Amino acid sequence: MTTQAVAKPLTGRVAVITGASSGIGEASAEHLAALGATVVVLARRAERLAELVTRIEKEGGTALAVAVDMTDAAAVQAAAARVAAELGGADLLFNNAGVMLPAPVTELATEQWQRQIDLNITGLMNAIAAFTPQLVAAAAERGVADLINTSSIAAQNIFPTFAVYAGTKAFVTHLSRHLRAELGSQNVRVSALEPGIVGTELQSHVTDEGALEWLAGSKESMEWLTAEDVAQTVGFIASLPARVNLQQVTIMPTGQAS
Ligand code: NDP
Repeated sequence: MTTQAVAKPLTGRVAVITGASSGIGEASAEHLAALGATVVVLARRAERLAELVTRIEKEGGTALAVAVDMTDAAAVQAAAARVAAELGGADLLFNNAGVMLPAPVTELATEQWQRQIDLNITGLMNAIAAFTPQLVAAAAERGVADLINTSSIAAQNIFPTFAVYAGTKAFVTHLSRHLRAELGSQNVRVSALEPGIVGTELQSHVTDEGALEWLAGSKESMEWLTAEDVAQTVGFIASLPARVNLQQVTIMPTGQAS
């Protein structure tokens, strides 16, 4: 009996993943690498990225770490130039870095509002500005490229005290719909990924007592998603035939009602 090597679905692809030093981004980098993609991992914590690259390489994958603050447009452009020079450009951007800092609006936590807007909106746009030309070029050459933006269930539903975060994520979902309409004709698929609660470092940045209590109660009452669950979904979106674009994917813990 002969054994045939099964081709990995993402072999030959170059995937840039933002927010890759922890949580969903980290798990997705490992998963996309296991599916055959060369992964470029972006975040600020260089040490965490270096450990991730070592782990991916140990499993036989290929990875490049670029430490970058997504809110720094020039630094993100420089990261994209490096991807172009060293890997010939990206054909998948998982635009995922984000921060969630809930607080009652009457507390006027303006510094936290700004941090969320700076990363979840401006940082996301910085990546789109830097990598869209590469996605379009790759799609023209190879017939497909992917822009997957991490939104949230908060883009759809109402979570009191999460107004600014939810607003940034509504931006991400609606932006994605519009970009899909523009880029689809150029073979670039655009997806908004909207997870419910996932156990990651995201919750560790929350300082508001009420939100912390709500999160603790939620953790008691249901089994949260894992970062790996979301990573599998990202891999699925990217592995579909080029004609298939999952526009908006909501992934919820089974026990989370809304
Ligand atoms: P984590 O906190 O584990 O990951 C956030 C990532 O973003 C880290 O890698 C962090 O790395 C990076 N990051 C933060 N600030 C910056 C910055 N200025 N520049 C570059 N990178 C930055 O959270 P998750 O994995 O949960 O979050 C990933 C995405 O998923 C976010 O967009 C979040 O809003 C979204 N999401 C999460 C849900 C959840 O319940 N966990 C639910 C719905 C959506 P570093 O600090 O090294 O820079």
